[in-house]
Amino acid sequence: MPESVLRRAAEEMLDWQGKGLSVMEMSHRSPEYTAIFEKTRSDFRTLLNVPDTHDVLFMQGGAVGMNAIVPLNLLKGFEQAAFVNTGAWSKKTSKEFSKYGLSRVVLDNANAQADASSACYVPECVSLLERVNGQQMAYLHYCDNETISGVEFTGQIEALADRFDCPIVADMSSNILSKPLDVASYGVIYGGAQKNIGPAGVTIAIVDKALLNRALPICPSAFTFGTVAENGSMYNTPPTYSIYIAGLVFEWLMEQGGVAWAQAQARIKADLLYDTIDQSSLYNCPVRQQDRSRMNVPFTLADESLNSKFLAQAAQRGLVQLKGHKSVGGMRASIYNAMPLEGVQALAAFMREFEKSEA
Ligand code: PMP
Repeated sequence: MPESVLRRAAEEMLDWQGKGLSVMEMSHRSPEYTAIFEKTRSDFRTLLNVPDTHDVLFMQGGAVGMNAIVPLNLLKGFEQAAFVNTGAWSKKTSKEFSKYGLSRVVLDNANAQADASSACYVPECVSLLERVNGQQMAYLHYCDNETISGVEFTGQIEALADRFDCPIVADMSSNILSKPLDVASYGVIYGGAQKNIGPAGVTIAIVDKALLNRALPICPSAFTFGTVAENGSMYNTPPTYSIYIAGLVFEWLMEQGGVAWAQAQARIKADLLYDTIDQSSLYNCPVRQQDRSRMNVPFTLADESLNSKFLAQAAQRGLVQLKGHKSVGGMRASIYNAMPLEGVQALAAFMREFEKSEA
């Protein structure tokens, strides 16, 4: 979270703009909250340049919830969907889909990391056209940034979108708002909030209005895109406080220069860490160079017995939450939009010093 956002939220906690109540205490239908909500949604649309063809929905259930919500909303008239598995999150999505239809994994590199000789990577995507087209797929799903393994797409599927005969659905939980997007290329973009948007609790879905009539009858009303859209994301009570904080984050991001600024910053910060890793003989990044995530930088230490010493010394300097996901081990530096450049510089300096001290 940007520090200025946390400070402003603290200032407004007990008394929002002189109204004598906290945002947490407002009815979601009050004029005060309606104003907060409308501005938040409109700022988000501005930031990502969302065209009129697409609705922006504020929902709940997180990205894992979306793994069920999306099929329930798009499967009417279809039996299967296509999945690109590039890591843990996309794999989880295709697995969940099997509850609702036939999950067709059309590309899979999820096991790449298990083989130490082959780095994690984004597979070549043009071949997807012939595997997907003509197969009556409800949609093609992929994860734009694999948070655990640190593999990020750089527009490969977006660039092919016009040539697919089904909509593209993208999980952008961990890199949304970090680069400009051609939203019109997507059927659905979804993401949990807790990376570049705000606190957990709200899930954003950007949905092509042409897809609002494809829900299965068993889809719960509160999770039906069409119902949520018709009711302006107020069919049920939305996570009001998370949305308010997201609104403050959007204001902050606009002041910084929007997603173009976020993209430039992300490049600088990620390059600093990857250069530090590549110039060292202690650290190694398991991801192929051109596919390395700008948001999540995974790395291992050549001598794994140094892992706990590395983490302990880092923590002494206030460099925390560096332990890699339990499924892959090693380290992971998550450097979302709100992480200042100075934080990344401090980590890079520590990594160099630690290597020297262990040489
Ligand atoms: N997809 C991706 C890419 C993620 O990074 C995460 C969370 N780390 C999820 C899905 C799951 O999100 P949630 O816990 O909000 O359901």
